[in-house]
Amino acid sequence: MPALNNTRVLLADRPVNRRVLESDFKVETVDAPEPGEGQVLLRTLWLSLDPYMRGRMSAARSYAKPVEIGDVMTGETVSEVVTSRARALKPGDRVLARAGWQEYAALPAGEVERIDPEGMPLSYFLGVLGMPGQTAYCALLGIGQPKPGETVLISAASGAVGQVAGQIAKIKGCRVIGTAGAPDKIAYVREVLGFDAAIDYKGKDRDALGAELGELAPKGIDVFYDNVGGALHDAALANLALHGRVIIVGGISLYDRLETPDTGIRWNRQLLVKRARMEGFLVWDWRHQTQEFRRDVAQWLREGKIKFREDVADGIAAAPRAFIGMLAGENRGKQLVRVAAPS
Ligand code: NDP
Repeated sequence: MPALNNTRVLLADRPVNRRVLESDFKVETVDAPEPGEGQVLLRTLWLSLDPYMRGRMSAARSYAKPVEIGDVMTGETVSEVVTSRARALKPGDRVLARAGWQEYAALPAGEVERIDPEGMPLSYFLGVLGMPGQTAYCALLGIGQPKPGETVLISAASGAVGQVAGQIAKIKGCRVIGTAGAPDKIAYVREVLGFDAAIDYKGKDRDALGAELGELAPKGIDVFYDNVGGALHDAALANLALHGRVIIVGGISLYDRLETPDTGIRWNRQLLVKRARMEGFLVWDWRHQTQEFRRDVAQWLREGKIKFREDVADGIAAAPRAFIGMLAGENRGKQLVRVAAPS
């Protein structure tokens, strides 16, 4: 077989205390790799763009190692097996892989997971049936433990994680409030996803947001699903209900300042007075629930109880621009890159 061209995106520079720029990436085309014994050559069909990748561009200490300058950007893909030197997989198989921001990758067969789509779109395995969906399901149900009639607040409510978390809270009989950063996102969350209320946080400070949340949740917020941190976090903490649960899932408002400590309000007294709990969440700690999550969410999708919106950019070279746009809130739903059509 003649050498295949592999267009890929490398990390060229680390953004330190600033927004990501297109010049932080380098797009280049090289020969596709040769799979070794036990490996498969994968063609990327879909690439997932996720906020955690902003953290991997930073050398600040975290739960995972940063991407090195000159390395391919890390990322999960839905890929197709082109050639196989492993018994477990054959050409044409579709798999979930950590192939990164590139068109082709050679990986050990043991590091990829074969997908059986059962009528679902392949891209869903990077979204509602993948890592973001599992984050929504496990953090909300495992840590938030919402009960019928309780008030649940979801920040970044129209995004990949937020839209699923809010709809699961509705399925569980809760009153659900969302926050998002544009009028059309507010309309989507309320009218399409069925949230009870939604707030556009843009241009409002902590106190204004706190007052608005206080009106929407006069008895307090029982479960706060925090994707954002910063001023929204403070506004929500000021409105916690007795025995409230705060799930720290993400802090996207702070991701351009990872090298600087986040100095906000000390909430110790509020947690004490409200006998509330605050717990950090990392999806990789919940792998034992993957089957249960996929079964339940697939069922809710089939029953029409969960809707899921995707935002698709085309071609691997579009990944940097789409990623920067997603961090700035330009995405309308789960941000994906369609890299190639299935054969
Ligand atoms: P989204 O699809 O929600 O996209 C990111 C969104 O963040 C943007 O659309 C934007 O929406 C919002 N945003 C950007 N800047 C700000 C800001 N300054 N203040 C408030 N909102 C902002 O991404 P995901 O659903 O994939 O991820 C949501 C969160 O979940 C992230 O924090 C992510 O890191 C976290 N996460 C955590 C995991 C874990 O295991 N802990 C796993 C997966 C995700 P808007 O227009 O509303 O501002």
